Amino acid sequence: METIFTKIIKREIPAHIVYEDDLVIAFLDITQTTLGHTLVVTKEPYKNIFEVPEDTLKHLIVVVKNLSVAISNAFNASGVNLLNNNGAMAGQTVFHYHVHIIPRFKNDDIKVELPNQMSTLTQEDYKKRAAMIIAALS
Ligand code: 5GP
Repeated sequence: METIFTKIIKREIPAHIVYEDDLVIAFLDITQTTLGHTLVVTKEPYKNIFEVPEDTLKHLIVVVKNLSVAISNAFNASGVNLLNNNGAMAGQTVFHYHVHIIPRFKNDDIKVELPNQMSTLTQEDYKKRAAMIIAALS
């Protein structure tokens, strides 16, 4: 399926490409949430992580790591957030698998806040949830 990212891969629309090999391509996210915000994208237009073959995923995560180091060094970042949205409800807007590398800087004013539900839960709730996941794995 054609996506905005396949058009970038085919050089039909411009992008600032920073890395490419047979399986993945990386280019600057157009929004530049922070300095150096980069997307690492599979060459094949898999919709989400559930569709990506294991070998491609293994390769991609190493590329994500290497690029995270390079981007951090290039801009003297203090940390990175790695973000991968799967599904519209999870915030995915381009349905072609990609991981965001978002470099972080002191006082960059980006808030990544996950609500804490601890106060509403018993140990039994945790046990049940863990058991459900373990059962689903088998
Ligand atoms: P998602 O919301 O699916 O996790 O992320 C999609 C990302 O693709 C967004 O951060 C958005 O800025 C980026 N994006 C969308 N269209 C383009 C484009 O034409 N060029 C580039 N470089 N990035 C894009």
